[in-house]
Amino acid sequence: MSNYAESRLLSLVVPFYNESEGLEAFFARVVPILEAIPRLPFEIVCVNDGSTDDTLARLVEVSRRDARVRVIDLTRNFGKEAALTAGIDEAMGDAVVPIDADLQDPPELIPTLVGHWRQGAEVVLAQRASRTTDSFLKRVTAAAYYRVHNKLSDLKIPENVGDFRLMDRAVVNALKQLPERHRFMKGLFAWVGFSTVIVRYERAPRSAGKSKFSGWRLWNLALEGITSFSSLPLRSWTYLGTFIAMLAFCYGMFIFGRTMILGVDVPGYASVLSLLLFFGGLQLVGLGVVGEYIGRIYDEAKGRPIYLVKRRYQERRPQVRATGNARVISLVAGKRS
Ligand code: UDP
Ligand code: MG
Repeated sequence: MSNYAESRLLSLVVPFYNESEGLEAFFARVVPILEAIPRLPFEIVCVNDGSTDDTLARLVEVSRRDARVRVIDLTRNFGKEAALTAGIDEAMGDAVVPIDADLQDPPELIPTLVGHWRQGAEVVLAQRASRTTDSFLKRVTAAAYYRVHNKLSDLKIPENVGDFRLMDRAVVNALKQLPERHRFMKGLFAWVGFSTVIVRYERAPRSAGKSKFSGWRLWNLALEGITSFSSLPLRSWTYLGTFIAMLAFCYGMFIFGRTMILGVDVPGYASVLSLLLFFGGLQLVGLGVVGEYIGRIYDEAKGRPIYLVKRRYQERRPQVRATGNARVISLVAGKRS
């Protein structure tokens, strides 16, 4: 390839939330792999998502030793999706790879992702070949989730694909144009499109520490995904309502006819009460679904930023040779505008 290809930069974006235990192991494994990729300087953008342990201190320590490591410290825990957004916003690379800090996404795959990118792919997805490292419950719920999501939504998200992927600068810029506060990253990644290549891999168990995604958090993530990309749950109430009204009308006609022929019939307390409760419950569910959407509209309308940065450590830019191309980052060490 041309000179231009040689002066490109790779950004690794890593969200850290209480990952102190596995932190050293992460850098020890990732850095040599990145160094071994020929003709591609790199930076590692670490986002500290309001960790309560000594993750930040350790990250700053690493960034002191290694100028290619930058640390973005958020003011509090904003959640993985926000942390990832922060990292992607800060990344300066021509290719950006989000990766988990717990080494569940094998960094050994990065050279392969880069290889496909160099051959012209704009997005290289890493797809889990199997979910054997997950619990049975997580496997079943994940499969069900993808099925439901892809049925309800026009936007199909590829199954068993996490945030681990490579994105070209063009894709990252497209992603930055999506202003929503409710960030279901998998969906947003899929929404922007671009030419995509899929690479399969085996996902490792967590290197240290434990998962931050409890069942409840995953449920909320699932709700986020569906409400962000489908309005079918809202619209379905129209159809359900119409259907029930039609049934009620038919039943009404039946009662009317029967009364005309057989006269008034008093019993029916149980059926009236159970129908009343059933429809009362149904209305509350409908209201709840509408509420889910209104709550999200409210959040979006407030227009608060997705995350807040407390401080950036290591402002020096990675050493990338300047060429005539405007996309290439200059040598300057200094403040971000
Ligand atoms: N993470 C984060 N903020 C959070 C929760 C998680 O930045 O509020 C990071 C975490 O440090 C890790 C990645 O997101 O680098 C994935 O988290 P985890 O391994 O807990 O998720 P799982 O692999 O169980 O889906
Ligand atoms: Mg993990």
